Amino acid sequence: MAEPNALVASIPETVPFVGPEQLMREHGLRECLRLGANESPFGASPLAVAAMRDELARIWCYGDPQSHELREALARTHGVAMESLLVGSGIDDLMGLIVRAFTAADDAVVTTLGTYPTLEYHVVGYGSRAIAAPYRPDGRVDLDALLDLARKHEAKLLYLANPDNPSGTFATKDDVCRLIDALPAATLLMLDEAYADFIAPHDVGIDLDDRVIRLRTFSKGYGMAGARIGYAMTTPRHISALQKIRLQYGVNRIAQVGALAALRDTAFLQSVIDETARGRSDYEALASRLGIGTIPSSTNFMLFDCGTEERAHRVLAALLRRGVWIRKPGAPPLNRYIRATVGTKAMRVAFADALEAVFVEVAA
Ligand SMILES: *Cc1c(COP(=O)(O)O)cnc(C)c1O
Repeated sequence: MAEPNALVASIPETVPFVGPEQLMREHGLRECLRLGANESPFGASPLAVAAMRDELARIWCYGDPQSHELREALARTHGVAMESLLVGSGIDDLMGLIVRAFTAADDAVVTTLGTYPTLEYHVVGYGSRAIAAPYRPDGRVDLDALLDLARKHEAKLLYLANPDNPSGTFATKDDVCRLIDALPAATLLMLDEAYADFIAPHDVGIDLDDRVIRLRTFSKGYGMAGARIGYAMTTPRHISALQKIRLQYGVNRIAQVGALAALRDTAFLQSVIDETARGRSDYEALASRLGIGTIPSSTNFMLFDCGTEERAHRVLAALLRRGVWIRKPGAPPLNRYIRATVGTKAMRVAFADALEAVFVEVAA
């Protein structure tokens, strides 16, 4: 009988992300308040939506394998050469290419325990080894501990999500530059900037060199998670390595057109950033009404302190019974928090009502 190879056979059958669609089926819900995946409920730019709708008639064509026009526009936006850019079907896709290109069996990859899980998913899938440093007691990423592990295990990759998910915290440009300067010679920094659109550009513009690959996406601030499009920025030399193994037709044509239009609509992106900041203030106000703590967030989501992990699980379950879908971090010290995405004003009001009711219920 045909069998998968030993590596694949050894991977446990876990589901890394249980989607809201599955939870709704299981709980017999017809709708839910969807605040669990940090998608942008403000949607995509109307210009991007119009461009994608117009492009649909040409759906019989493959996309441009070079994503030439989009890379041209991205090069202008970031002030980098086109040869420094590679477009993929989201950061999740690009991360897989990087793990595949830069690690071999049993190589060490350093990450934070409980951070965004797709990195580890690829590490397991390609047979390298994830080594994780816990978050600091204040919930921030421990850059010194990551560096120590990278040195100790001669890591090939060091993963840093900045801003981080699920903590929502942000390490300054100076801190990241110091980290890069202290990296062991053989360690490459995989800098996941999925939420960088919520940070002022001059605070994230790390210069490109062979020690770092920056990853960006249209899924969060640009509100195009379903389109599956993102990009990597690094030196032409590293881009060439990734070129050798990427799927030439892996990027959706509609997504390419949408991303290009979205990039031009800077006013729309600014409106999302502004409303997200107002949403974070609303969530801070909600937490203080409930008398609970939060962790200051630089993103489009926020953590609410439920006191204990057990209580956080009960709050999550009680919210789901009310049709509110959010998630929670899995590792200490963040596992006693729940994580909610910033919704539209109406969604925020509905979430606040539900959370206040649930806190009464769970306290009782
Ligand atoms: C949402 C998220 C991603 C996913 O990006 P895609 O481009 O949609 O694949 C990557 N990294 C982090 C930290 C995220 O929160």
